[in-house]
Amino acid sequence: MKMHLLSGGRLRLRRSVYYPGAPREETIELPISCALLKHPQGNVLFDTGCHPSVSVDAEARWGTMARVMVPVFTAEDSVVHQLKLASLGPDDIDVVICSHLHPDHCGCNVFFPKAAVLAQASEVAAARAENGPAQGYLPIEWDHPNLLDGVEGQRDVFGDGRITLLPMPGHTPGMMIAHVVLDRDGPFVLASDAAAVRAHIDQRYAPRNTWNTELALAAIEELARMEQGGATILLGHDDAQWRSLRTGAAHYE
Ligand SMILES: [Zn+2]
Repeated sequence: MKMHLLSGGRLRLRRSVYYPGAPREETIELPISCALLKHPQGNVLFDTGCHPSVSVDAEARWGTMARVMVPVFTAEDSVVHQLKLASLGPDDIDVVICSHLHPDHCGCNVFFPKAAVLAQASEVAAARAENGPAQGYLPIEWDHPNLLDGVEGQRDVFGDGRITLLPMPGHTPGMMIAHVVLDRDGPFVLASDAAAVRAHIDQRYAPRNTWNTELALAAIEELARMEQGGATILLGHDDAQWRSLRTGAAHYE
């Protein structure tokens, strides 16, 4: 099974969102990591990043959220365009896994109408709740007919232990990570915003944009344990890590 790490866009936001204590006016630019898994039984995309149009006019799609996170990428750096680096097109994707349903993680879902879209049931419920939009869930990004009713707890996607979805609430109610086993490069954990940047694991703290701090800290502890067990943790938005990884056409397997 090959794994391509693909860009889901790039955002500028206040540094203090992820690093408490940073001066209020300081900003930081962060990548959005997505992963394509070419499993023998189907092509799986873990997170779809930002919709390409936000690179041109974010406010049109995101409204006021576009002031909190400012896209700083070109349309070519969105997942739907990045797929060709792995010699695939949108119709080749069989399964889309949503770590959670925030707009910087499911923005290209609309381009995969043939895929089964999986998210935790509790995440779908949070997005559908009356206060969903206020919690950062924008229907234009997540509310598509192929979003299935939701995964409850753990799921082995193809029943062979290669891609296992694990609930890891904290950042959001239905945050979900993927444990991926590669023959040559070993186990990877696609952590998304359960661990957005390296400091969260190294210093064991949850960032400001956290739904439930206690659960988020438990998630970080669990990720640290998985890392000690030999897994590579793919962080959701860590620029230094992103630059050190094989991305795009280069791949892991
Ligand atoms: Zn995120």
